[in-house]
Parts: sequence; C-alpha cells; structure tokens
Amino acid sequence: MTRIEKLQAELSRRELDAIVLFSDPATRWASGFAFTDGAVAVARDRAVLFTDSRYIEAARAIAREVEVRQFDAGHRLSVCLRDVLAGCGRIGAEAETLPHARWEALGKALGHDLVPADDALTMLRAVKAPEEVAAITAAQRIAERALEELLNMIRPGVTEKALAAELTYRMLCLGGEGNSFDPITITGTNTSKPHGVPGDAVIRDGDFVTMDFGTIVDGYHSDMTRTVAVGHATDEMRRVYDTVLRAQAAGIALMTPAHTGAEVHNAAAAVIASAGYGECFGHGFGHGVGLEIHEAPSASPRNDRPLPAGAVVTAEPGIYLPGRFGVRIEDMILVTETGPTDLTAAPKELLII
Ligand code: ZN
Ligand code: ZN
Repeated sequence: MTRIEKLQAELSRRELDAIVLFSDPATRWASGFAFTDGAVAVARDRAVLFTDSRYIEAARAIAREVEVRQFDAGHRLSVCLRDVLAGCGRIGAEAETLPHARWEALGKALGHDLVPADDALTMLRAVKAPEEVAAITAAQRIAERALEELLNMIRPGVTEKALAAELTYRMLCLGGEGNSFDPITITGTNTSKPHGVPGDAVIRDGDFVTMDFGTIVDGYHSDMTRTVAVGHATDEMRRVYDTVLRAQAAGIALMTPAHTGAEVHNAAAAVIASAGYGECFGHGFGHGVGLEIHEAPSASPRNDRPLPAGAVVTAEPGIYLPGRFGVRIEDMILVTETGPTDLTAAPKELLII
C-alpha cells in the first residue's frame, strides 16, 4: 500500500471524505515534498498537491503519489481546494497546527465545518517504512561519529557552549542536514537539569558531562544522550549511572507490540525507585522520533496503547539530583514483532575521560 492509499483507508475508517494537510511533516510524509506555502488535499479517489510558482518545479521533481498543481495570486489556494474537494462533505484537517483564523476561513471557503483529524496522521506516521528507518539510522550514525570526535575535546576548562558548537559543526561536516534540536551539552551541577541550556560553565575534574543531540537526514531526526565522567567518578556517581543503565534495559526489554507505552515507562521507573531515586526521574521514558523530534507514540505513563511494530521510540531514563549532578542515557529503539532493535550503536558503559 502506498502512503496515500493508507491515508485513504484511514479516511474511510473515520468516515471522512477528504483531508487537507498543511504542516511540513504531514505534507512531507504524504507526498515526499515539504513546503511552507501550499497544501496536500487527499480525497477517497484523488490526491492533489498545491504549491505556488516558487516551488512548483521542485514539487514536480520530488512529489510522489500525488498530482501537482499550481496556485497563484489570481487563483487562491482556498478556491483551488474547494474545486478539487467539490462533493466532499466531511473534510478533516490538522487542528493542532493550523492557526484558528485559518481553520475558520478554510471551513468557510469549503462550505463545511472542518473535522479535527490530527490523530489519523500521527498514527500512520508512527509506523515507519524501511526507508524511514534507514534515514533515522543514517542520522544516528552521523551523530555517533560526531560524538566519537567530540570525546577527544572533553577536558577541564572547555565550556558547555564549545561542546554544543563542536557537535553542530561536526554533524554538518559529516553530512547531517542540521541539528534535530539545539544540542544539550551540560557539565557539573548543570547536569541535574534534564533540559539545561549550554552556557559559559567550564568542565571541571570530577564532573559528569551530559550530551543530548541529534541530526537530520532526508527530513528524519535522530536523538541520543550520553553522560560521561571527567577524571574520576565517585561511588555515588557510579551507582546512579548503573541504575539509569539498568532502568533503560528494563524499559527496552518491554518495547514490543505486547506492551503499552505506560508499561515500558513503569518498568524503568520501578528500577529507579527500588534504588531509592524514585523522586529523581520526572520525565517520560521515551518519545517517538521521525519527521519530528517528538511524535507519537510515547513511552510515558499517559500512553495506555501498545507500541506498534515499526515505531521508533527513544529510551531515555534519567536520575537528577538537584544542585549536584544528573545522568541520562538515551538510545532510539525500533519496535518490531520479534522484539526491540536498538538503532543506537554507541557504547554506554560508564566512560571516564
Ligand atoms: Zn534526546
Ligand atoms: Zn529524546
């Protein structure tokens, strides 16, 4: 089944006659082409991509499974959409990303109230095709090579910002399309902040350094975290690191279609709690990764649905001791019918540099 056919099957399941997509990840998933101006309209029997003269040539070259048409100032997008969706009564759109004013205007132009249909896309996008997994894996390999190179410059006196700049530079040089998100490279007491922002703090002997980063290939993101010790590690630092690693393994073991996202999270949280750090793990165990850095499905207490085979989900437990230090270890896991496949190849035993 092509992606458009999958979407059309989803339309009939949801009793929708059509769906109009505007967001970059949705249009890219459906048509292969991402743009800022335009839309992809998918009805039960047709799929049309509309873009303007600036992008039309690229769209014709790249887009697949859709008919490509041009709209321009004299022929407005809403009019084009109304023409192509004539006869469609129940039309879905992305309520979460479309600005309210545009949602209202589009409904008016089409002559029907739009139906929120974000979930249709997110569930389809959660299950990756082999080429999507290949792109995510390629991005991950670039991130790992950059990390290998970065480890050579981790020493007392180097700033957090320098590490962030270096990762950004090296991943671009290695073929990445850009950061998946601003790299988190933090040291010392800052490592107790799960999403600390790299600043002018310098690495000191005895610090943990946490690096959370990723790059993009063909629009697909990667995401990994490694925590390393500089010079030496205390017994407590070793105990915390070991607990996070065991929590990660416990969660990963359940990342199959037989378990819900909540079960995965809870397995890891139980390991952390039994080591006495239950209060120190406040975020979810993992999130889906793909055309967006955070997408469905999540491995969090809120997700009581089984993880679908084909999903790529992070495994990123952490323990954070405020004002002291923190540890997070993050891999990306491909959920398959036969069990979890770790897409991350970088070693994760405690490294003391
Ligand atoms: Zn991350
Ligand atoms: Zn993550």
